[in-house]
Amino acid sequence: MIRIAFICKHNSCRSQIAEAFAKALESDVFESYSAGTAVKDRINPDAVRLMKQHYSIDMEKEGQHPKMLDELPPVDGVITMGCGVQCPYLPSKWREDWGLEDPTGKSDEAFLKTMEEIRLRVIELKDRLEQKYMEADMTEHMTADESLTLLKKGNNSYLNTEKMQGDVSPEIRQDTALNGQNPYAIIIACSDSRVIPEAIFSAGIGDLFTIRVAGNVIDDHQLGSVEYAAAHLHCPLTVVLGHTHCGAVGAAISGHAEGYIASITDEIKKAIGDEKDDLKASELNVRRNVSLIQKAFQEHPELSSMKVIGAVYDIETGKVEWL
Ligand SMILES: [Zn+2]
Repeated sequence: MIRIAFICKHNSCRSQIAEAFAKALESDVFESYSAGTAVKDRINPDAVRLMKQHYSIDMEKEGQHPKMLDELPPVDGVITMGCGVQCPYLPSKWREDWGLEDPTGKSDEAFLKTMEEIRLRVIELKDRLEQKYMEADMTEHMTADESLTLLKKGNNSYLNTEKMQGDVSPEIRQDTALNGQNPYAIIIACSDSRVIPEAIFSAGIGDLFTIRVAGNVIDDHQLGSVEYAAAHLHCPLTVVLGHTHCGAVGAAISGHAEGYIASITDEIKKAIGDEKDDLKASELNVRRNVSLIQKAFQEHPELSSMKVIGAVYDIETGKVEWL
C-alpha cells in the first residue's frame, strides 16, 4: 500500500479536503493522511459545511482532525498544497506541490472552486498511482540525490529516537511479497553487530538493498549484488558504509590475522598502507571500495552513471559522516 500525505501548514482546510476526497475514492492501492506544522484546533468550519452540502462527505464524522507531521507513519509520497517556501518538509520517496489557493476566509464560491480542483487532482493522482503501482516502478524515477536526501533524513531521525522506525508492518510485508521490492539505495556495510543499516537510516522492509561483510570489503560477490540491485531493481545510489572502531580495520592495522580472516585484512591493507590511525584507515578503506565499484561498472551500459559514495558511521554517536 502506497502512503500519501497531504500537507499544509495549518492542516485545517486544503489538506483536509484532499484527505477526504482521497479517502472517499476507497483505493486499494494507496492510503491517505494529512498533517501540518502549526495546526489549528479544528477543521475549517466552511470546509466542513461545504463538503457536507456539495459532496455529502462529513469530514468530522469520518474522524478527520488537524494533526502534526510527527503523528503520521512513514509515507511514500508527499503532496504540499501550495504554501511556497513555508511548505512543511516530510521525508518521502517523492513529492509534488499542487500550488492551490487557500480559500480560508473567502466566499463559498472560492471554496467550491478550490474543492473541485482538489477533487479532480485527487482522481488524477489515483489513476497515476494505480498505473505506477502496476508497473511497480515507484523508485525507478528516483534520482541518486533524492535517495541520498532520504538517507540523510533517515539518519537524522535515528539520532532522535530510541527504537527502530522503519515500516515492518504486516501490510508492507504482504505488499512487498506480492509486488516485489523497490529499494531506494544499496548499502555495503560491515557485519559488525553495532552497524545496522536499517536502524541507522530509519528504513523498513523493501527500503534498502543491504550487503554486509566484515570490513565492508569488495569482491566479485559484492559486485554481483550491486549489479543486480542497480540494473534490475533500479537502485540509483550505492553507499559504502564504513564505521569507527572497526575490528577488521584494526586487525589490518596490527597485521595479525590468520585463516580466512586474512583474505579480508589483505584487502584492507591494500587500502590503508601504513596508516595507523583507526578512523583515517576506515576512511581510506571506504574510499578504495568506492573506487573499486566505480571502476567495475564504468563500461557497464546501464550502470556507468550510477552514483557511488562513501560514508563512515560513528558507533558511539550514531551519526553518519558522508565522505
Ligand atoms: Zn567493522
